[in-house]
Amino acid sequence: MSAGKPRPTPTTWTIKALLQWTSEYFQTHKLESPRLEAQILLAHVMQCARIELVARSDEEPTPTERAQFKDLVRRRVEGWPVAYLVGQREFYLLAFEVSPAVLIPRPDTELLVLMALDRLKTKPNASVLDLGTGSGCIAISVAHQAKACHVTATDISPDALTIAQRNAAKHKVQDRLTFLNGDLFSALPPEARFDLILSNPPYITPGELATLAPDVRDHEPRVALDGGPDGLAFYRRIANEARAHLHPGGVVMVEIGWTQADAVRELFQAAGFTVGPTRLDQAKRPRVISAHG
Ligand code: GLN
Repeated sequence: MSAGKPRPTPTTWTIKALLQWTSEYFQTHKLESPRLEAQILLAHVMQCARIELVARSDEEPTPTERAQFKDLVRRRVEGWPVAYLVGQREFYLLAFEVSPAVLIPRPDTELLVLMALDRLKTKPNASVLDLGTGSGCIAISVAHQAKACHVTATDISPDALTIAQRNAAKHKVQDRLTFLNGDLFSALPPEARFDLILSNPPYITPGELATLAPDVRDHEPRVALDGGPDGLAFYRRIANEARAHLHPGGVVMVEIGWTQADAVRELFQAAGFTVGPTRLDQAKRPRVISAHG
């Protein structure tokens, strides 16, 4: 056989052979993490942890399992994000159910959770608000780690709230979470006040939307990404409306797009907040702004 020809199709499709074939197939489709994604999809079909695939590498999945896997592989290559195909994504310390109704939790957002938990050390029984909760990953991670706080989580999308509520129940924090449907602060009773307001609002500009990876652009909810003409629409509203819902001494913390630090700092300063140092994510890019009321 001459070089460059595909390797021969195995006669028995063991777990090992399926992973090898799929990794190479994903690689030819330029997926970023071909082997990892192949493992996540096969572990989902086999209903086991990814690490168990190694121990079971000589096992032959049943024809039904192979058919299921093949279907997932096809949809992945068509552009479906892996998290939607398997219905979950790990974030901070927990696994969250996801669907196309919610943004897939990003590792960058874990910084906002860490900063919130740090803040809650000084006031463990604080009242916390998460605006635009999506899957609930921020609100639920905070409630799960800070056992004395109460978290209110809002979202404009009822379908997102359904997922967030299921995640809260799954992680047994539903007693300390209140979910409200509505657009930012309008979901709240006028008298509601918080010690800590958190948000990862939509912040992508129309120009950036066009350049996003197709799996983000074509599959993740536009309502969770579109930050208006300059990407700052939600920060403007949060900066202007937060004070009416903050207790004295309260803090607002928002995730930002990495080019937006100066603009978002100015918005909060113009609204009378004292803005803390811009915090960088693991890639050393500006990611979270905190504003003290
Ligand atoms: N960080 C997300 C992305 O780059 C955007 C999230 C958001 O708009 N809040 O796809």
